[in-house]
Amino acid sequence: MQIKFFLVLTLFFGIYTLNSQTNTKPFVVVLDAGHGGKDPGRPTNFGYKEKDIALKIVLKIGENLEKQKNIKVIYTRKTDVFVELRKRASIANKADADLFVSVHCNAHSSQAFGTETYVLGLGRSESNFRVAKQENEVIFYEDDFETNYQGFDPNSPETMIGLTLMQEDYLDQSILLARNIQDNFTKKLKRKNRGVKQAVFWVLHNTYMPSVLVETGFITNKKEGDYLNSVEGKNNISKSISDAILDYKLSLNTDVLVENSKSETETAQAVVFKVQIAAGSKKIVIKPNNFKGLDKISRVKSNAIYRYFYGSTSSFDTAVDLQKKAIAKGYSDAFVVAYKNDQKISIQTALKTTK
Ligand SMILES: [Zn+2]
Repeated sequence: MQIKFFLVLTLFFGIYTLNSQTNTKPFVVVLDAGHGGKDPGRPTNFGYKEKDIALKIVLKIGENLEKQKNIKVIYTRKTDVFVELRKRASIANKADADLFVSVHCNAHSSQAFGTETYVLGLGRSESNFRVAKQENEVIFYEDDFETNYQGFDPNSPETMIGLTLMQEDYLDQSILLARNIQDNFTKKLKRKNRGVKQAVFWVLHNTYMPSVLVETGFITNKKEGDYLNSVEGKNNISKSISDAILDYKLSLNTDVLVENSKSETETAQAVVFKVQIAAGSKKIVIKPNNFKGLDKISRVKSNAIYRYFYGSTSSFDTAVDLQKKAIAKGYSDAFVVAYKNDQKISIQTALKTTK
């Protein structure tokens, strides 16, 4: 009797230990300080170095995060060394990271200022392309870049369009983190908000996890450069980013309810295209007033994130038209998603299925 009881106990604690181990798998954040070594980053007349500012901000973000339980921080560089773009992405992939955050400073010939955070996407705007092009051009510092980055030309947006689909699965989570970061910059630090943007960054394209690239401000603007170069500025920017990461982590952890919002057009086996217009931890009542006048909105909850969709159609072309309409209404980061039997599938798979 006693032996049996002992066995049951052992079994119970055995399972308990196993569970607690699975629950405590650390949340892995890869912090990527842009540039380094022979690549100084953006040129500026004021003597600020993008590579130094980015590194100091990243080290501080890491310090903030490492104070938290259950977070593991990995750096692509901790010193002033040159790291190839593809190496940065592979560090994150090898670590099976939960997040990839790349930190940079912006530059422009004008006196532009403000912060912007990028996710990977088809950035159709000229200025988004300009920023991506400048960050991508880092590969020209690398030996053998022609063989290592086959088919990739920072000067030609067309070669990049085919690359964007890879991060599709992580787009809404990336946007959620990007919004958290921009919100903190704007609300807590009163920095000018240039928004969450999409463009094709090689380093983001090659990571297999939610990934963002933060342009913390313009070092070509004297005032903003001074701020970024100051200890206070760097501390504030770092805190905004680490807080945004913690909020993001929290929103994933709070619950795992899945709320189905099957629309009438969704029948078994059918592929349905929708336009995702927003995602966040807030539950918003579905009525046109709350969605800039758009109707046919649906909501899906997954991993504590509510995703809001506009329209539902079996035609990809119609979905693209709906996306344009959503963008015109002000949802500049709207994108097309595909579902089959309530499961999200990639656009590529969906297109193969529907053809
Ligand atoms: Zn940069």
